[in-house]
Amino acid sequence: MERHGWFGWERAEAPRATRDQLLRVHPAAHVDLIADLSARGGGIIDLDTSAVAGTYEAALRSAGGAVAMVDALLRDGDPCGVSALRPPGHHAEAARAMGFCFFNNVAVAAAHARAEHGADRVLILDWDVHHGNGTNDIFHADPSVLFCSIHESPLYPGTGPASDVGSGAGEGFTVNMPVPGGSGDPVHGSLVEHVVAPLVRAWEPQLVLISAGFDAHHADPLATCRLTEAGYAGMTASVRRACAEVGAPIGVVLEGGYAVDALAASMAALMPVLGGEDVPPPVELEVHPLATAAWERLSDQFGSMRRM
Ligand SMILES: [Zn+2]
Repeated sequence: MERHGWFGWERAEAPRATRDQLLRVHPAAHVDLIADLSARGGGIIDLDTSAVAGTYEAALRSAGGAVAMVDALLRDGDPCGVSALRPPGHHAEAARAMGFCFFNNVAVAAAHARAEHGADRVLILDWDVHHGNGTNDIFHADPSVLFCSIHESPLYPGTGPASDVGSGAGEGFTVNMPVPGGSGDPVHGSLVEHVVAPLVRAWEPQLVLISAGFDAHHADPLATCRLTEAGYAGMTASVRRACAEVGAPIGVVLEGGYAVDALAASMAALMPVLGGEDVPPPVELEVHPLATAAWERLSDQFGSMRRM
């Protein structure tokens, strides 16, 4: 990013999330647990997830950066933003840290958008290679957040079948799109262009957040998907075209990605598409059978809206 002059973007230091902002998503006991563990110098939460002395501060900034980005988008009118912080968040459940995640940054950001800015339609696209179980569960019964996840299956954490569509008032507002190992740009690209983008056009969210992991990249050591930098740029273009049509700003929140060079290159490919002056032109993309199947499940609910 530095080598590209940060693509001309304005950079800001992430503030700490406030306790009230965290408590919209997490119970006080969970926030205190992370604070206490860090104050004691750290400790192991599960096999993947350990806190060190600086974890609480880092996790506060990671959630706070996502919140500040939402303010920039919904209060200041910026068209797009990126919260490029770790630790990631999408595995964190309301009351449980797991999978390298302590606070659910994107959920805290979405909750802030509603509480502070009155956004009652927030669409979250989670393209991290792992299912965003925390975000899925936090908004499971909530029709104001449309959670869409593309994830490799089977893979950690083992959740997110297509049959999990939300519950209660939120039934139909969880869209899980598991893909087999080895899936690459054509599968992910089609699911975004032919399912997520039509959902954006149909539902007209006031804000779109991308839980952007880069561990579906072919070079990533934790999974077997085969996305390229161009694939990430393409998905971004699909989202941006749809958002431009409905006037929704886009906020990118960093999640996983463990091949550092691949993460850097993917971000470098994504940034000009996200922040470029011109909306990318439409592309012809082959409709993948998984996209057809996903849209068939959604067409009753969203189908009046637009043809994929
Ligand atoms: Zn991941």
